[in-house]
Amino acid sequence: MLRSFFNSDSSIQRIRQHRLAHFISIAMLAILISATQNAFFGNWRDASLLGIAFVVISLSLLLVRRSHYESASILFSLCLTGMIASIHWTSSGLYGPAMLVYPAILVFTGLLCAPWLFVLQFVLIMSHLSALIFAETQGWHVSKVMPVDLSFWIDLSLIMSTVAISVGLIMKDFRRTLAALHSENERVSKSQKEVEFLATHDTLTGLPNRVLARDRCTHALALNQRQQSHTALLFIDLDNFKTINDSLGHAEGDQLLVIMAERLRSCVRASDTVSRQGGDEFLIMLDQISDDRIAAEIAEKIIQSLSQPLTLRHLSITATCSIGIAISDQHVTDYDQLMQRADMAMYKAKAAGRNGYRFYDEGMNTKATEQLQLASKMRVALGRSEFTLHYQPQFDLKSGRIIGAEALVRWRHPELGLVPPGKFIPVAENSGLIVEMGEWIVFEACRQAKEWYDEGLGSIVVGINISPIQFRRGDVEKLVSTALKLTQLPPELVELELTESLLLEDSDHLKIILQNLRSLGLSFSIDDFGTGYSNLSYLKHFEVERLKIDQSFIRRLTEDAHDEAIVSAIIQVANSLELQLIAEGIEDQSTLNRLIELGCAQGQGYYWSPAIPAAEFKQFVLRHQAQAHHVP
Ligand code: C2E
Ligand code: MG
Ligand code: MG
Repeated sequence: MLRSFFNSDSSIQRIRQHRLAHFISIAMLAILISATQNAFFGNWRDASLLGIAFVVISLSLLLVRRSHYESASILFSLCLTGMIASIHWTSSGLYGPAMLVYPAILVFTGLLCAPWLFVLQFVLIMSHLSALIFAETQGWHVSKVMPVDLSFWIDLSLIMSTVAISVGLIMKDFRRTLAALHSENERVSKSQKEVEFLATHDTLTGLPNRVLARDRCTHALALNQRQQSHTALLFIDLDNFKTINDSLGHAEGDQLLVIMAERLRSCVRASDTVSRQGGDEFLIMLDQISDDRIAAEIAEKIIQSLSQPLTLRHLSITATCSIGIAISDQHVTDYDQLMQRADMAMYKAKAAGRNGYRFYDEGMNTKATEQLQLASKMRVALGRSEFTLHYQPQFDLKSGRIIGAEALVRWRHPELGLVPPGKFIPVAENSGLIVEMGEWIVFEACRQAKEWYDEGLGSIVVGINISPIQFRRGDVEKLVSTALKLTQLPPELVELELTESLLLEDSDHLKIILQNLRSLGLSFSIDDFGTGYSNLSYLKHFEVERLKIDQSFIRRLTEDAHDEAIVSAIIQVANSLELQLIAEGIEDQSTLNRLIELGCAQGQGYYWSPAIPAAEFKQFVLRHQAQAHHVP
């Protein structure tokens, strides 16, 4: 306890230690002067008392120099009290100027010494004064009234100056400490504000984050109920942000987000909340709107503003966005509900071709619920082996030979019947189930192809559709290599059907996966060719063997000159790039003839056969081979 009072490391303690040395030095100077003047005026008794005090106090200065602050302060203050008490008994007693030193001693010990010393000093002084007064009343001691002369004046001045200088120093410290405390307070409250800002704002754009957005929206929704007003949420997602981020780099991606955030802010009133939800998603809350049209107008303004070109890395870039709008009503009183609606509407806007907006409607909810139910049914179906593969034969148009089979998945649901892939594949993709389902498809297709191969059905290349989600979330490379290894199917009998959208991602990662797969010995085709983006540069980046012209161009080939022009252009592209070409969806003889005339070499379609179960497919091939034998 005793030690810790002076030895702790706080700044106040350091000031105390510093000041202790000052006060001792000042007191020593005053005592020295007083001793000298007392000697000069022949008052040898006081002079010698003061001399002794000077020596003892100089010892306490020595202790300070050696950092024994506690001992120094005890020695100093007790020596002062002892010196004054002695002067009282030997000299002027109650009437001398030395009496003034007592309050100064108390102030000194109160400020610089441990509390126990202060109490001790007070008790000592009071006991001494009481004893002195008692002695006076008993006549044992008589205080002499000092003559008011130069010596009196000098002592008085010394005491007053010593006290004044000490108090001045203390006040200086006090003011300094107060100022330091004030600035520390300001610093703390500033950093508190910063912490609060960081917890509720996005560091990149400075916009409110999802926490603050939720808070404000919840508040607004509560007010709505009282004021019969409405709140609109606009959920904004940048289109193709990932492509920009991957191709230009993250720094540029960040810059783009900052610019977009500024543009969004400029589209709304200061009272509306623009927040960043994370990634390339933003949320705007329009408070107290009276009409849906206001939300639509703002959505249009946003689409207009965001699609203005901007320059990044000296490249002119146009970034668009898709917006989902949900407006509160008596059924929606909760932020999460409203947010979910805006989210659904945004996906609708994306599905409708992006760069647009959609309002939430009840139908979306029903559809989402249906999809959720379908996904859970599919999970069960996977366990119950309700999925099966059908095969559609593919032909060489000139020779009429069967060259391959596309494996197409079917779902035989005990109650729903045969569910078409168009209905469940998108749900499987959205829910991620496609990864698990895709694994089964790859294994089953390879197993079946090996069986046909072993049965001597000839070189039938089996085409397996692979969803982009499988590349993103699954390990296609490992899956295919394991399936080939386990089934012992020659790899050249496998063709993986990829989508254009997958290849448009143009990522190095994908390129490596495709290269590794190719090194296994299998081939690739691009499915539904012509329906995606017209950017053909990916054909150079990714080596594929075959293009599959989408059936939408084939369907009205003989009737629509426009479709014919497209098909003929695709055929030319394939020829010049030395790629094989297969037409999907050939349904009649005239389409087949026209395709042969245009130079298309391969085809598949209902003209020959729809996708059929494996056993039927085998019979189909055998029949077909037998017929071909009989044709001279
Ligand atoms: P896709 O890969 O383009 O498959 C061709 C689709 O066209 C098949 O529909 C096929 O039955 C149908 N088709 C073939 N010839 C004709 C024709 O002459 N006329 C008409 N109108 N249609 C014809 P399906 O089996 O309903 O499959 C639809 C889509 O579902 C497939 O399109 C593919 O994208 C997806 N899909 C099917 N099976 C799988 C699979 O195992 N895995 C993955 N990831 N997707 C699959
Ligand atoms: Mg396909
Ligand atoms: Mg297709």
